[in-house]
Amino acid sequence: MSELATPIRYHLGVKSVAGHFLTIRLDIDEPQAMGQILSLPAWIPGSYMIRDFAKNITRFCAQDSVGAAIAYHKTDKQTWQLAPHVGPISIEYDVYAFDLSVRSAYLDDEFAFFNGTSVFLAVAGQTECPCSVELVKPTDTAMEKWRLATTLPLAVDTDWHEFGHYQANSYKELIDHPVLMGDYDIVPFTSNNVSFELILAGGHNSDTQRIKKDLSKICQHHIQLFADKPPMERYLFITMLSGDGFGGLEHMSSTALLYPRDDLPSIAEQDNMPDGYRRFLSLCSHEFFHSWNVKRIKPAELHRGDLQAERYTEQLWIYEGFTSYYDDLSLQRCGVISTESYLELMGQNLTRLHRNSGRLKQTVTESSFDAWTKFYQQDASAINNIVSYYNKGAVIALCLDLLIRQHSAHQHSLDDVMRLLWTHYGRKNIPTEKNVIQELLQEYIRLDLEDFLHSALYTIEELPALSLLEAFGARVHTRARNSLQDKGGLEAKNLAHNAFGASVTALEIGLKVTQVEENSPAFNAGLQVGDIFLALNHWQVSVDKLSAMLDAYAVGQTLNLHVMRNQKMKVFDFVVEPAPKDTVFIEIFDHTKLNNWLCAHILGNTKTN
Ligand SMILES: [Zn+2]
Repeated sequence: MSELATPIRYHLGVKSVAGHFLTIRLDIDEPQAMGQILSLPAWIPGSYMIRDFAKNITRFCAQDSVGAAIAYHKTDKQTWQLAPHVGPISIEYDVYAFDLSVRSAYLDDEFAFFNGTSVFLAVAGQTECPCSVELVKPTDTAMEKWRLATTLPLAVDTDWHEFGHYQANSYKELIDHPVLMGDYDIVPFTSNNVSFELILAGGHNSDTQRIKKDLSKICQHHIQLFADKPPMERYLFITMLSGDGFGGLEHMSSTALLYPRDDLPSIAEQDNMPDGYRRFLSLCSHEFFHSWNVKRIKPAELHRGDLQAERYTEQLWIYEGFTSYYDDLSLQRCGVISTESYLELMGQNLTRLHRNSGRLKQTVTESSFDAWTKFYQQDASAINNIVSYYNKGAVIALCLDLLIRQHSAHQHSLDDVMRLLWTHYGRKNIPTEKNVIQELLQEYIRLDLEDFLHSALYTIEELPALSLLEAFGARVHTRARNSLQDKGGLEAKNLAHNAFGASVTALEIGLKVTQVEENSPAFNAGLQVGDIFLALNHWQVSVDKLSAMLDAYAVGQTLNLHVMRNQKMKVFDFVVEPAPKDTVFIEIFDHTKLNNWLCAHILGNTKTN
C-alpha cells in the first residue's frame, strides 16, 4: 500500500539529544466519533514485567485538521480519551528515551533505539488496520551519517537502512520490529536463503569476519533443526554495544541485543574462545531460536496481544527453558565450541541449579506463573526462595532429550518435539496448552513420560540429570569451590576447605554482601545483603584472600566478623563449617555413549556465505 493510503500514520523523529526526546505525530483519518481512545502498552512481549512505558510520554496534544485543539483527559496511567470529534485528527507527543536496555527506548549522540511499545500509541478500534510510519532523519550535522536498521516492511521501494516510509499490517506487527538509528556497522551474511545482518552500534574493534562465520553456522543449525522453510526472509541482530550492559529480546524477524563491546572477539584472539565471546554467541543463538519458540509457537495465555496488564502462563519452562537448552547445545552441534566447552557450560547450569535452594521451595511452573512479580523483580531473597524457569527449564529439557533418546532406542530426541511444536502449532498459528509436551510425546512419539514431567513441573523433587548423563557416558562430579567467583563446570585444584555462604563484590575497603545462602555459616552468623564485611577475626578481608583466610581455621571454631551496617559497626560470631560440594563438573568416560547425545548429526552441507 502507499504511505498516504493508510488510515493511521505515525511520524517519528529526534527532538532533542540533550533532553533525550523522540517526538511523534500520529494522524488518524477516521477517529472514533464518541472520542478517540489512545493507549500505550504496559509491557513488552518477551519481558514479563509491567514497565508502564506511558510514564515517559510528555507534551501530549491533539488537534483537528485546521489546527484547533481537541480536549482530552486520561482515564488511567496509559490511556488518553479525546473529546468527540468527526474528521481527521493529529496527536503530537514526546517520549523521553533514556533507558539503555533492549526493552524500551534510548537516545544519545551515538544512536537512538526504540521498541514500538515505547513510542507508538495504539488507536482503539483500529488496531487491526494497516498503518504507516515515517522515520525522519535528524537534521543535526553531527548525525549526518546516521542510518536506520529495522525489519519493519518498507512502504516504498527504497533501500534498507534509509530513513523514510515504513508500514505494518496491524498494531501488533508495528510494535514487533524495533528500530535502531545511528552510524553503525553492518555485517551481512546469508544462510538457507535468509538475509541476515549483524548490526553493531556504539563503536567496537572486533573480528567481524569471525563473528560472521560462527553466527552463520548457528543460524543454519536452527533453520535446519525445524526442517522447514524459514519463517522469515530477512533477520537482524540489532546490537547496542556498551561498557557492561547485557540483554536480549526476541522479535518476529529481529532481536535487540545489548552487549559489552570488550567481550566481542578481537583479531588477536583468533585461536581461542574467550568466555565473553562464547556468551555472545549463546545469546544470539538464544534469541534466534525464539523466532520459532515463543514468537511463532506460543503459549495460549500469551497468544492474544493484550499488553495492558499481566498475562499469566505456566509454560515459560518450555519457551525459555527449551530455548536455554538449545542456545548452548547448538554451539557444540555446529562446531563453534568443543564438546568439552559445551559440557563446561552444562556443568555451570547444573551448579547454578544446585546452589539455588529456592528450587526446593518453588516449582518451575509456579516460577513461570509468578514471573511478573518474582523472577523479574528479584530481591535479596531470590536465591533462597525462587527457582529460575530458564535454569531449571533448561535442565528439564536436557532430561527430556536424554529420556526420549533412551526410551526410543535413540530413534527420537527433543529435536522431534521441537519440529512437532512447529508443524502442529507454530506454523498453523495454534497456541499451545500447558500439557502440550505430554500430548505430543504420547501421540506422535508413543512415549509416556508423564511421571517425569509431573515431578519436574509440579513438584520440587530433584531432576534425574545426573543418572541420565551417566547413561550417556558423562559423569557428574561435585566438588567444593576454589574461589568465591567459581561458577563451576571445570575440574579444579586448590579447593576451599571451609564454607562462607555469601556472594560479595569488592569495595575499596571490605566486601559488599550481595546474596546470603540460607543456612550457610554467613547466614547463621547473621550477615545480610547490603552489609559491608570489613574483617574476619580482626583481619581486613578481600575477594582474593577470603577463601584462604577462612581455610586457616579449624571446623567448629568461632570467629569474629566485623560488619558495617547502616553506619553502625556490628560484630557477629561466625562458626567455621566445612565447604559444601556445591560445584558441578562433568567428565566424559564413554565417548560412544556420549555420541548418542552429542554427535554433530543434523548439519548438512548447505552453502553459507
Ligand atoms: Zn529467552
